[in-house]
Amino acid sequence: MCEVLRGEDLLRQKFLRYLAQTSNEPMGVVVERAEGCWIYSKDGRRYLDFISGIAVTNIGHRHPDVVKAIHEQAERYLHAMVYGEFIQDVQVLLAEKLVAIVQDAYKRASGRESDWELQYYPTNSGTEANEGALKLARKFTGRKKFVAFKNSFHGDTMGSLSVTGREVYRQPFQPLLADVEFLPFGDVNSLERIDEKVAAVICEPIQGEAGIIVPPDDFLPALRKRCDEVGALLILDEVQTGFGRTGKWFAFEHWNIVPDVLTVGKALGGGMPLGGFLAQREVMKVFSENPPLCHVTTFGGHPLNCASALAALEVMERENLPQRSAITGEKLKTKLQQLARKFPQIVEVRGKGLMIGVEFETKEETQAFVRNCLEMGLIVGGTLHTEKVVRIAPPLIISDEEIDWAVSVMAEVMETSTI
Ligand code: PLP
Repeated sequence: MCEVLRGEDLLRQKFLRYLAQTSNEPMGVVVERAEGCWIYSKDGRRYLDFISGIAVTNIGHRHPDVVKAIHEQAERYLHAMVYGEFIQDVQVLLAEKLVAIVQDAYKRASGRESDWELQYYPTNSGTEANEGALKLARKFTGRKKFVAFKNSFHGDTMGSLSVTGREVYRQPFQPLLADVEFLPFGDVNSLERIDEKVAAVICEPIQGEAGIIVPPDDFLPALRKRCDEVGALLILDEVQTGFGRTGKWFAFEHWNIVPDVLTVGKALGGGMPLGGFLAQREVMKVFSENPPLCHVTTFGGHPLNCASALAALEVMERENLPQRSAITGEKLKTKLQQLARKFPQIVEVRGKGLMIGVEFETKEETQAFVRNCLEMGLIVGGTLHTEKVVRIAPPLIISDEEIDWAVSVMAEVMETSTI
């Protein structure tokens, strides 16, 4: 009568009972441990992680340097004071390293060596990074309006949702910020709508949740030019595209433009929650005066997360992960394109580096593909704003053998598909 529940079944029941759910169909892997590119479940199975916890574990799960840094920091101090008051060595060292990496990218992309005096404001998440960037733009320019792009995703807090361009996710939470105009992503002609009333334009250089949409090559340079013409700040949201994901440190480097404000998150923390935004010192200054303390955070830049992030950035640098992502991404894309030629259900394979989208003909084919891959031990996923794109975003340390195994699983899933 009374069914004996195995450990993982009981956990699944409690997960559904006690944790607020975000959908009716959670993927439901019961995690036991994770290492490198693999996640191990409590029932003894292992899964190749081909989405990196959505573009987070760029250096793989539980990198030993990260684990060591977290341990060492935990032995010294955890929360000591809200951000901005005390001098916490690990926070300072992380800021120095991050600014150096971002400034190098700005120099490469702009061709200008000496103009940079960037500062970093740490946050707990990507959405808070965008909130901060939007507030910074309003205060710096004294203007109110924002321009964003259709099908963008910038996060789920009220400000970030206000610049997120998908009606179905906005509608239940109206009224959002009033002064936001959405333009078609990739359309140069529509950029003339950006005028002197605009405080900032916020843009993902490659749209992630829209289904891995790479804009035409003239789009971002034209956007940069238009922002300069009207004095609007350009906020580039690299929460998903940053830290080597697209085959460069930052995606803006593909088009040789630089933003006024760069927002980051996800992979920065090496598996711990850390985001933030970077801007020139003269811009960032407006947060420290008139009135002082007008943008503060208790936990942003937590020492444990900074220690983890510092170790993660060192790994990315030492192992040259952006370049590795470019090389591995090309190989993977070629293999996926071969698959697409064989199976007409696959409409397109696109993306840069290891940020790849595989577009299917129908929603049903897409869902079945994701489900069947998971069944065979390969974790892929969808993207938020479309039901026809499979997201491929493995850790940047993925090996050729792991890629080959993943592609063989995908081929088998396609061969045996009944849809
Ligand atoms: N911006 C982009 C481009 C994202 O992809 C995401 C998350 O997927 C966010 C912002 C929000 O980040 P978070 O979930 O850390 O708040």
